[in-house]
Amino acid sequence: MRGLFVLMGVLALSGCAKEESRQPAPDVLLVTLDTLRSDWIHAYGFEQATSPSIDALASRGVLFENAIAAASLTAPSHASMMTGRYVREHSVGTLNGESRLEGIATLAESFSLAGYETAAFISNVVLRRRTGLDVGFDVYDDMLGESESNRPAYFERKAQETVGEALAWLSEQDSSSPLFIWLHLQDPHGPYQPPEDFEGRIGSVPLRMKGDLPVLTRNQGQAGIPAYQELAEVRDPAVYAGRYAEEIMYSDFWLGRFIEAFEAHTDSRSPVILLTADHGESLGEHGFFFQHGQSVLPELVRVPLIVVAPGIESRRIPELVSHVDIAPTLLDLAGLPALPDPSGFSLAPLMVGGARPVSREVFSDTEGESALYAEDRLTRVLGSGLSTRRGDSAEPLRSETLIRRPDGAWRPVPTDAAALERISAYLEQAVPPSPVGAMEPEHIEQLRALGYLDPEAESENSGP
Ligand SMILES: [Zn+2]
Repeated sequence: MRGLFVLMGVLALSGCAKEESRQPAPDVLLVTLDTLRSDWIHAYGFEQATSPSIDALASRGVLFENAIAAASLTAPSHASMMTGRYVREHSVGTLNGESRLEGIATLAESFSLAGYETAAFISNVVLRRRTGLDVGFDVYDDMLGESESNRPAYFERKAQETVGEALAWLSEQDSSSPLFIWLHLQDPHGPYQPPEDFEGRIGSVPLRMKGDLPVLTRNQGQAGIPAYQELAEVRDPAVYAGRYAEEIMYSDFWLGRFIEAFEAHTDSRSPVILLTADHGESLGEHGFFFQHGQSVLPELVRVPLIVVAPGIESRRIPELVSHVDIAPTLLDLAGLPALPDPSGFSLAPLMVGGARPVSREVFSDTEGESALYAEDRLTRVLGSGLSTRRGDSAEPLRSETLIRRPDGAWRPVPTDAAALERISAYLEQAVPPSPVGAMEPEHIEQLRALGYLDPEAESENSGP
């Protein structure tokens, strides 16, 4: 509760502490954008204006310059946000949409127990309720009526649809209970196909790679366009990159619409808004294009993290922070008790200029790879025994340490033995993932009744 105490102190200085003590609990909005690397957001330094709504949040809130995702895969990453624990500390593990969150208190449960109306609107099949991410939500809208153009069983929906549902729900809420809303938008995730009125607004964005790329036969791999990303007759990486930027622009547009309605609804409650992404995207680094999940290198785990809260002034914070800090921070800002034994902590003290944590280190994971990030370096371990899907393999362990240079580039140095030891200890205490169950019969019925795609056809929806 230290963070809340500091926050109240700031409010006291501004002369509104008495009023604050009578303030109702804040409405809370958690926004997660899929596959959005921070350096493609204007507020984080991207040249073009891809993100006016996100930039507006940053201009009146706190922007964390160095936020590390708990995973470079969608479901594990969100499970860490919801529990305040690292990926190998919860039962989703590194299985993307094929494991179930069980036995750990969640953010939504805390809000629900505190009398909040809780609602989630998600847009990616790997976040469906069968993953257990719905625990604690009164409404969990995972009605996905579309599928990716190259993967028919990979269900999703566009920002316009998801935000439309969230707006309809919001319009039915009165002000008797505070709200906790999780809004997940999928669009920057490939294939990059922005709607017509956004396509061409950015145009090509040159990457370091020049010339056309072949299309790979698989969904992951180097030196080519992953099969799931293929756009008909497009082979120029600069065109893909431009479409990626336009998808960001499209999501940002609908996000802006929702934030406007949310703030109008919540006016008297001084809302809290936290925005992040589940992971980034490779755009040519190490020869990987338009994919994620294959490593936990910076392009895949450096994500935006922006928080707007009452009494908090706009500032940029360079300290290293993590997805596991999200649940502790939101509970603290709402004045609610912390979750039991979180690995993260409330960022509220940092947000009001308080003391920085001493030499913070944070974990990030994907299948077959784990990393420990420190302020200016990362150490990663790849190989044997790390994969929770395939079990032990004969592949030998490999490790490396990379240091961030002042120009932002990362260079290898001798492996940090102490960091390696901490990763090993972290991996040794890993919780085994709980396999996902069958879809609930009533949910299948509900989807069919609404005329959606046959949900039982989702046999191959793993992957990035
Ligand atoms: Zn994702």
